[in-house]
Formats: sequence, structure tokens, C-alpha cells
Amino acid sequence: MTITSYLLIRYYCISMKIFVIGSGGREHALAWRLARCPSVRHVYVAPGNPGIAQLAEIVSVKDLSPYSLLAVAEALNCDFTIVGPEAPLAEGIVDLFRAKGLPIVGPSQQAAQLESSKVFAKSFMRRSGLPTAEFTIANNYAEACAAFERFGFPLVLKADGLAAGKGVIIAHNRQEAETASQGFLSGRLVGAAGARLIIEEFLQGEEVSFIALSDGKNVVPLEPTQDHKAVWDGDRGPNTGGMGAYCDSRILTPQQTHQIMDRIILPTIDAMATQGTPFTGFLYAGLMMTAEGPKILEFNVRLGDPETQPLMHRLDSDFAEILAATAHGALRDSTLQWKPAPSVCVVLAAHGYPGKVRKGDAITGIAEAEALGAVVFHAGTSLEHGVLKTSGGRVLGVTASGPTLQEAIDSTYRAVSAIHFEGCHYRTDIGRKGLKRW
Ligand code: AMP
Repeated sequence: MTITSYLLIRYYCISMKIFVIGSGGREHALAWRLARCPSVRHVYVAPGNPGIAQLAEIVSVKDLSPYSLLAVAEALNCDFTIVGPEAPLAEGIVDLFRAKGLPIVGPSQQAAQLESSKVFAKSFMRRSGLPTAEFTIANNYAEACAAFERFGFPLVLKADGLAAGKGVIIAHNRQEAETASQGFLSGRLVGAAGARLIIEEFLQGEEVSFIALSDGKNVVPLEPTQDHKAVWDGDRGPNTGGMGAYCDSRILTPQQTHQIMDRIILPTIDAMATQGTPFTGFLYAGLMMTAEGPKILEFNVRLGDPETQPLMHRLDSDFAEILAATAHGALRDSTLQWKPAPSVCVVLAAHGYPGKVRKGDAITGIAEAEALGAVVFHAGTSLEHGVLKTSGGRVLGVTASGPTLQEAIDSTYRAVSAIHFEGCHYRTDIGRKGLKRW
């Protein structure tokens, strides 16, 4: 790209209109950050939620299929679109928008297979020499049983397809492995997503979420975060979509960050390009920091939730400009600036989550929590006759920062205690693992 066209994009970006797709805490945090960018004039969000409605314009959409979203985007005529959730990406929204000449941040349908098919992702990692757990693909029960012999216990079973966070089971003995593989292969656990399995070696270490933005060639890393997947304190209980996350530069040493960039992120972007599926958008690497170095647990092809909430809270750059550059393939040597103070997000979940969720409980105390300095991102809320009620498993993400991680944790939990709804539960140890680095 010439300097003239780059400057034209910069000029064109001074008063951007942006279309955000999604309705969770991730999209509330994105819209919150974008609405504060000097380059942004207007943020539209579909389908949005009551929290997002306070800072952006909600646009109604029939469903989240690529064609329904295309119709909305064509009517809005925005500078670019950013896709929050994985489903529209797996269904090819980026290909469709590009074919119509609409700038969009996200991967093509083929590249989105890094998330939508674990068989694609693991085969790609093996072919490209990327560090990950040893694995076998099992198409049926006999193949699964043969893999149990190979790996011993514990081992990890993963459904091939998208399974909304329910596609991974750690089996501690043969009985658990047999039950899990039968449950996946029969379709009982996650439907068609379980028709093929990855069976892999169990890795030990600390988990880190590392997200980078790419335009297919250039890469801009975000700060590291740590998610908390299990529902109860101490990483116990069933897995959830994520019960909280924190963002702190100390999660990784500069040397670890270099290793992750050199051994994982840059080789992935290069290999995707050379193998004919260039990757554009947010590459999310779920990593295990093992004794042998970082290894890939999974790839996602979009921003993580809840990780986006503490990330957007700490970000100190005009995010819209960098997203516009990504959508136009002009990321070049851009960088992101971050506030030094760590940020913490605690998810308040509804009664029953992650099992059968009760909806319709009235929520109070958000204004009081925000008066204490937190930002409260909505995820599963709805407004009924002017009363805010629970309407999903993860209801709110309470996010705050502080000069130290301990102070960030304390101010987040002070705000959490101001909020009430029947059946509300949350983890009380979000961020605690990070305290040893201070
Ligand atoms: P995934 O969706 O592949 O990230 O898996 C969900 C969770 O399962 C991860 O966040 C890890 O806690 C755990 N997990 C996945 N793969 C492995 C592995 N090979 N070894 C140990 N734990 C794993």
C-alpha cells in the first residue's frame, strides 16, 4: 500500500461508523472501548443487550446468519464490521462481506476452521511443526479405545466441532474415557460436533490466553490474560464459558512473550498464508506454559469472553483505527498502548449455571457498583417493563483496575458486593494465581 492510500484511510477514519456483531460481555466491552475512541462517530450493535444500549445504537436483526447480518450492514453503510462470536465466522460471514466489498475484521470460513474443527486445527499444527499436545484422531469407538492405550491417564477427549465450551472432557481413568467417547460419538453430548474426536496427551502447567490481531501478514499482539473456566473456586467443578479473567503484563515474562510470538503466533500466521488459508482477524491461542515451553491447547478465531472485558479496560490506544487498518489489510507496524494498571473481571452467573439456568431474576446495584469505580458489562440481561432481569447463564462482568493486582482484585470484589439478584454466584478467587508475580 502506498503512503497516499494509507493517509487517505487515516483521513477517512476520522469519524468512523462501526458495526459490532454480538450480544455478550465481549461485545459490550468492545462497544464501550470503541465509543471512547477519538476516531469514532457512531457504534451500531446487533443484536446487543440493555447495557450496550446505553452507549451504542442497537440494530435489530432477524438472526445471526451471514445473510441477515449482510442486509443490516448494507443498510448501515459503516466503515467496517467486527464480529464478536464464532458462529457467523464459521458460517462464512467474512467471505460474504468481502465479496460485497464491505470491510470486516475476522477470518474467512476456511481460516475459521482453526476453531470450528479441532481435527483441522490439530492437523494444521502437526503439519506446520507447531508445539501442541500429542494426539490421535478417532472416527469411531474402536479407534478411541486404541488411543487410550497410547496415552494412558489422564488424557483429554475433544469433540471435533463447535460445542459452546462443552466439547472437552478430561478422563482420569478408562471408565471415564469410555463413557465420554460413547457420549460424544453417539451425539448425546454435543450432537454432530462429536462425530469425530481428538484424543490427546494431558499437559501440565499454567494456562494463558494470548490474542493477536493480524491482517494476514502483519501481527499486533494484545496483552496476556488468564481465564478461569471452572465454575467454583480453586478450578473445581464443571467447565463454563469463563467465570472471570484478568489482564496483567506480568502474566508473561518478556522472554515468554518472545517465545510465544516466535514459536506460535508468527509461524501460525505464516503457515496459514503459505497453506492457502491466510488468517485475518483475532487469533486467540489458548496456551499451556509447560516445562518444555508454551504449547497450544486450542485456537479460537475471535476475541475471548470474558478476556475481552479486562483487555478493553486496560487498552489505551484508538482501537478503532487499528481495526480499520486490519479490515483494509494495512496493519503494518502498528502497536497498541496499554495502561500499566492490571484489570480484573469477575463474572456474576445466574442460578443453575453452567447447567439449566433460571431466568427472570431482578438485578439491582449496578449504579452503586459503577459509583465504586467499576465498569459493569452486561452479558445475559434483559429489560422487562423497565426492570433489568437475568436472561442467560453469565449475567454480568464486573471489571475494575488498580495500581497493583491485589488492589485491582479488591476494587472489583467491592463493586461485585454491591450487585444483587436471586441465585447469583461467582468465583471469589479471580486473579489470585497472578499474585505470586508481584
Ligand atoms: P480447549 O477448549 O481445547 O481449550 O479445552 C478447554 C480446557 O480443557 C482448557 O482450557 C484446559 O483447561 C483443558 N485442556 C484442554 N486440552 C488439554 C490438554 N491437552 N491437557 C490439559 N488440559 C487440557
